[in-house]
This record gives sequence, structure tokens and C-alpha cells, in this order.
Amino acid sequence: MSPAVDPIEQVAARLRRTQRVTILTGAGVSAASGVPTFRGKDGLWRQYQATDLATPEAFARDPKLVWEWYRWRRELIAGCQPNAAHDVIAQWSQRGGAWQVITQNVDDLDLRAGTRDLIRLHGSIWELSCWQRCRRVPRPWRDERVPLPDGLPTCPVCGGLARPAVVWFGEDLDRLDVARATAATDCDVFIAAGTSSVVYPAASLLGQAKACGAFTVEINPAVTAASADVDCAIAQGAEVAFPAIHARL
Ligand code: ZN
Repeated sequence: MSPAVDPIEQVAARLRRTQRVTILTGAGVSAASGVPTFRGKDGLWRQYQATDLATPEAFARDPKLVWEWYRWRRELIAGCQPNAAHDVIAQWSQRGGAWQVITQNVDDLDLRAGTRDLIRLHGSIWELSCWQRCRRVPRPWRDERVPLPDGLPTCPVCGGLARPAVVWFGEDLDRLDVARATAATDCDVFIAAGTSSVVYPAASLLGQAKACGAFTVEINPAVTAASADVDCAIAQGAEVAFPAIHARL
């Protein structure tokens, strides 16, 4: 007679034994904070989909329209607070040892919760960069004003257009961020939370962690393409699962 294995306890037991833990978070982690996923009907603004606006082509064609959309998104996100998942992840990142957090979210709720050494694969909606890439330095700069002043934001170096410092569809991820995220897959426990784990880079990071011998965990209320491949799938929202694991540490 073997008792049914409680996945929460299974993960907690692993975390009690190691300090080499990497956590990858996606839109599902911020959903409980009220941040829209900007996919499907949820992401509709006026008559546009995110895929119509979050591209360099859209910005080149009509920067004012794209900036209006980002102003709207900033206002929405400014009213959101980190949830229990962000808080637990932030606490873990502040421990000694090698706890690394990678996020695909641009809302910076992880930063507001106090996460250390956060790798933001898709950039931040609270930062701007030069549309013309006039210089490598300065890198993206922070501008948290809501609303942003009227008119289009400009680059302080060349005076040209500034853009949101986020990775758009069709753009490459920052090589340094990818290198850091890849290095972090060499861990003992890899947790993918609130991400479908099917699109790059989530899928490849999970696969690399597995190849490095990590115990892999998925936290997602929905079944995903990765659910059958991970060592432990927790079918709960991140805001429920993370505090439950934390309580057992
Ligand atoms: Zn510039």
C-alpha cells in the first residue's frame, strides 16, 4: 500500500533538500493580480489584437497608435498588485544559495514584490528604449509615469522616438538574458509556472533543465503540452500552489 503522493509535498520535499532552484513564470502568475493575458478576447483593445500592435512594423507604421495601446496597458497594470505567488517567489529569491527567477511577464510585479536578480526575457513595460537604437548605452531607461505626458516619448540621447522596451513579435530576445536563463537551467529543481511551456523560450528552457538532470515541475491549472513530460504537474493556480509549497518548507 503506497499512499497517494501529494504533489505539493513532493515539490516541498525537493526544495527542502536543495538551494539550486530555477523558477520560470508566465502570464498565468500575474492573472490573479488582474493583469490581462493580452491573448484572445482578453487582449482586445478597440478592434486590435496584441499581434496587430506588438510588432516593429506596427510601430513603424503608426507609433502613436502603438503608444496609445501601451498607455492603456500601463494604466491597467499600475492598478494591479503582486499576488501571493509573486510574494513567495520574491521571498525565495532573497534566500542564500542559487534561487533564480526568470519571467516572461513585462508587468514588473515580480520586482515590486522584491524579487532579486530577476531575468526579464520579454523586457519591461515600465522601461523605454531608443527606436533608432542610437547607442548601445544607455540601455533601456525606466519611466514609470502614468499617464505618460502627451505627445510621443523621446530618446534623451538623440531626441528621436522612444519605444516600449519590450520584446515584440518577430524580435529576438536579448542575448545576455537568454544566456543567463540558459545558465540557470543547470539546477536541481526547475519550476515552470503559469506558462503554456510550448512556445520558445519556455519549452526549450524546460527541456534543458531536464537534460541537466533537474526535477521538473509545472504549476498550471490547465493541462499543457509539457504536463506529461514534467516530473510533477500541479494543476492549481500559482497564487494557490506557491503559498501551499512555502508552508511546507
Ligand atoms: Zn536615441
